Amino acid sequence: MILVLVETDGTGATEVSRETLTFARDLSAAGGGVPVDAVVVGSPACSVEALAQQLAAYGVRDVHHVSGDAFSAYGGAAWASAVQSVRAEVGSVVVAAAGTPRGMEVLAHLGARLGVPMAANVVAFDGLAPFTVTRQVVGGAVLEDMVLDQRPALFTVAGHAVEAAAAATPGAGRLVGSTPEVAPADLVARVVSSEPAQADLSGGLKSARVVVGAGRGAGSADGFGDLLELRDLLDGALGVSRVVTSLGWRPHHEQVGQTGSRISPDLYVACGISGAIQHWAGCSSAKTILAINTDEDAPMVAKAHYAVIGDLHEVVPAINEELRRRRGGG
Ligand code: FAD
Repeated sequence: MILVLVETDGTGATEVSRETLTFARDLSAAGGGVPVDAVVVGSPACSVEALAQQLAAYGVRDVHHVSGDAFSAYGGAAWASAVQSVRAEVGSVVVAAAGTPRGMEVLAHLGARLGVPMAANVVAFDGLAPFTVTRQVVGGAVLEDMVLDQRPALFTVAGHAVEAAAAATPGAGRLVGSTPEVAPADLVARVVSSEPAQADLSGGLKSARVVVGAGRGAGSADGFGDLLELRDLLDGALGVSRVVTSLGWRPHHEQVGQTGSRISPDLYVACGISGAIQHWAGCSSAKTILAINTDEDAPMVAKAHYAVIGDLHEVVPAINEELRRRRGGG
């Protein structure tokens, strides 16, 4: 049996939790159709009944809801004790969670309590005997195969490793409640207050048909004028590399990549971006990529469909001028 720790937001299970359930279902199918159960700890951000229905659509058999004062505020050790108690009851041989800060922390605690290893940021499973997974290390720059030969096998699933998809055959989605005891030591570190995150401002970037990308090659916070004009001329969105957000040149919600937005526009114009693996993780689904770079050996130039080798501060104004001319705007 596979047990998946599910995290929630106002709409139900988070996207990365639904991806993890999809991954678990694929694993179950490879293992002869063992049941997939979910465990939800504390007070979900949505109705538990609605959540159980949603999880049923993802093929979940039982939804174990661990409630009680000890679990209402997030605490890594307390939540791990909740998952441990459900696991002991249902006898799961695999416990999975989303590769989020909470998923990582809870499963790391669980591994320490059970004396078994935990594989973080898994992107694929390669075999069941022995149970072998591929996981991202060094921020996604390297993929590593890992054999999980102890039980339960614990792992977290990296975001976007699979696409979340409902099951062809829904599960029962039976709601099972429990309120296990918690040791006082497990309540020492808990969230005592939280504030809502800043609204997701990246919506336009994620759905844009054209994205003008800018990296360190922009030169400074003042170096974006021509790039913003190109964005407007193409009716697109601006996406930037992490260097640009780390230097404070542009806000984080414009970042593309592993720790930013994943984009899939028809056209990505990557200006002054080297194309590091973590950036590529966010833009590789673009249908057409045009790289503008002074370095003909930059990885982005090698991966792009088209490239212009040159200074973006000369190339982009020339493109803008031509676009304006074709539109009769001078
Ligand atoms: P650089 O690598 O410095 O490249 C600048 C490029 O601009 C070069 O190719 C250069 O030839 C070119 N250039 C310079 N001047 C000009 C000019 N005038 N005209 C044209 N071209 C010019 N990065 C992301 O982008 N997104 C992420 O989500 C992300 N997540 C990460 C997560 C982790 C855990 C780690 C370790 C790293 C992450 N990074 C991410 C950082 C990533 O590894 C790179 O450091 C970053 O993408 C490089 O940004 P850049 O291409 O703008 O800068």
